[in-house]
Amino acid sequence: MKLSHRITHLTGGGSDGWDVFYRARRMISEGVAVTELTIGEHDIRTDPSILSVMNDAAVGGHTGYAMVPGTALLRDTVAARVQARTGVPTTRDNVLITPGGQAALFATHSAVCDAGDTALYLDPYYATYPGTIRGVGAVAKAVQTRAEDAFQPRAKDIDAAAEDAVSLLINSPNNPTGVVYSRETLEGIAGVCRDRDLWLISDEVYDTHVWEGEHISPRSLPDMAARTLVVGSMSKSHAMTGSRCGWIVGPEEVIGHLINLATHTTYGVPGFIQDAASYALSEGNHLEDEIAEPFRRRRALAKEILARQNTVGLIPAQGAMYLMLDTRATGMSGEAFANALLDTHRIAVLPGESFGQAASGHVRVAMTVADEAFAKSLETLCDFAAQLVSDKSMRFSETG
Ligand code: PMP
Repeated sequence: MKLSHRITHLTGGGSDGWDVFYRARRMISEGVAVTELTIGEHDIRTDPSILSVMNDAAVGGHTGYAMVPGTALLRDTVAARVQARTGVPTTRDNVLITPGGQAALFATHSAVCDAGDTALYLDPYYATYPGTIRGVGAVAKAVQTRAEDAFQPRAKDIDAAAEDAVSLLINSPNNPTGVVYSRETLEGIAGVCRDRDLWLISDEVYDTHVWEGEHISPRSLPDMAARTLVVGSMSKSHAMTGSRCGWIVGPEEVIGHLINLATHTTYGVPGFIQDAASYALSEGNHLEDEIAEPFRRRRALAKEILARQNTVGLIPAQGAMYLMLDTRATGMSGEAFANALLDTHRIAVLPGESFGQAASGHVRVAMTVADEAFAKSLETLCDFAAQLVSDKSMRFSETG
């Protein structure tokens, strides 16, 4: 039986660059002790106070169909949070609650792309981006950012790719690079969106994980609220990855259509999860800061460790849960380096190539293990890179 092109070509075919990850998982299942610095999952669990509200809500009977757009309480809470943080007037009519940020990425692209339309995204990118765009029948077109710019996108490069595009997807704080887009970068991007009449889909799921600079939501820039769809999530800010609760913030008309889409796809998010999310958000900064703290600490450790050597370069780690390390001095691809590190030292990191072309020769390190193991792994990684460089120069001097 024939399957749709859309579903069979969702992943783009070929290697997805995650071989190192699967290999590490296989080694672990065979009993090998591997330090995993791969995926964006906290090493802490959802806070007991959040679980307690979730439990009370479920036991109290909030287990039937919930309102498809989200409960009034959660929509109001998200709207108030967004308005307080951005200054942009926002009400519940600007908010749709979704089963996580990923569903929001899919829904936003469904809302703005017709089949065959071109949708832009920036390379390096979060793994699901091109597949999400292909999943709505659109054509995914990457715009390269550059290591020499610390992966801050250039408006000119986006503009050059934008002629036939309908949307642009951005992500700051960024996975995989850990970079936070500057005001100048975002103003440049907003300018291209206005000039080229693009929808801007702004993935802000790491907005509470900022170590340097400030998170600016492009929805707050002049004339951008009418053309920006913001994707948010409880996953990272509140260590609620498994609860599947996120949102879209955008113009009321778009949210109206997206509610129809939700009625025909997800049919909403469980009520007891939404009650837990409402509680967690109403706790304000202290809970978010507590959850972000381990990453803040490890990022400081990483800066110290990286400053003691000069083989491995650190892309300015300004936010999110990751470090992007430049290992090009070894002469190896990110993939070869990550495989060698796994084989030699049982440390699993992800090759930059898993996230597109722009971060080749780099590796992404998730700061998701306890401080001591994290610091030790990073030191080992740097020593390993230095050893590879010295072996290389020895080979070179032997061969003349
Ligand atoms: N966007 C980015 C950049 C992410 O890293 C992730 C999760 N790793 C998501 C979206 C999706 O998150 P969720 O669906 O759990 O909200």
